[in-house]
Amino acid sequence: MRARLDQLVTSALQQGSAVPAFTCYDFTTALAVVAAAEDGGRGAILLVPPSTAATAKGLRLIAALRGLADSAAVPVAVQLDHSSDLAVIADAVAAGADSVLVDGSSMEYEDNIALVRAARAMLDRSGSAETVIEAELGGLAGDEDRAFGPGAASRAPSAGTAGLTDSAQVEDFVARTGAQLLAVAVGNVHGRYQGEPELRWDVLQDIAVRTRIPLVLHGASGIPAAELVKAAAMNVGKVNFNTELRTGVLETLEARTAVHRRDGENLQGLLAEWDNSAGTFAATALATLSR
Ligand SMILES: [Zn+2]
Repeated sequence: MRARLDQLVTSALQQGSAVPAFTCYDFTTALAVVAAAEDGGRGAILLVPPSTAATAKGLRLIAALRGLADSAAVPVAVQLDHSSDLAVIADAVAAGADSVLVDGSSMEYEDNIALVRAARAMLDRSGSAETVIEAELGGLAGDEDRAFGPGAASRAPSAGTAGLTDSAQVEDFVARTGAQLLAVAVGNVHGRYQGEPELRWDVLQDIAVRTRIPLVLHGASGIPAAELVKAAAMNVGKVNFNTELRTGVLETLEARTAVHRRDGENLQGLLAEWDNSAGTFAATALATLSR
């Protein structure tokens, strides 16, 4: 069923849980995530990368995800992930995204605020006042779509290199942007960690006492489950997963493609393995965050 992102997350927090968000580059993964959410009786969030939303086919994927979310037996939100492009945001919302991460975190503080305000004004003007906005304060290291490789090499994440959210800015930022959720940088990174992740619980605690809106943790892949379960206690109501989900699916495809080729070019069988890999990952994340 259709769910507003802020309401989905707030009601989970009231039960001491956080809602996992999964990056969906494709429909197979999304089907697996929604089935896992239905099996667990929990809500989930389908994330669409901005690189996907910037294409005509990607906008059709958003429309398909919207249909999937609407037909789900549990609350499911469809969110455009990290975008600083107002045109992409407008297109994604028109295609069916009910929430967006308006990401000005790499900009100067005032420019970040101006971007979020511009997105809010644009959405309100275009009759999309219901669209929920997540904003981001503090820069996350790493690449969202690739764990490592040429593009990510110069920004290879390692513990402690992320620009932490300045908790002193939080109240002002939330008040002036009107953001409904706030993504924070507390030692979390996009992609794969080099060494052990070091989440700064002290910084998170400092942020949590300064705002009532739900906080969001990106780059959860690699953070031990024992750490993640503490998040909801600090008002983290949404946790984004991408890298680990991709790794699992790619490993499965690598290991099982030959078997299915020998089995009469059995694409359906291979897709079932993809579904199983993504579904198992989603079920584990859902269980970890809902206690
Ligand atoms: Zn992110």
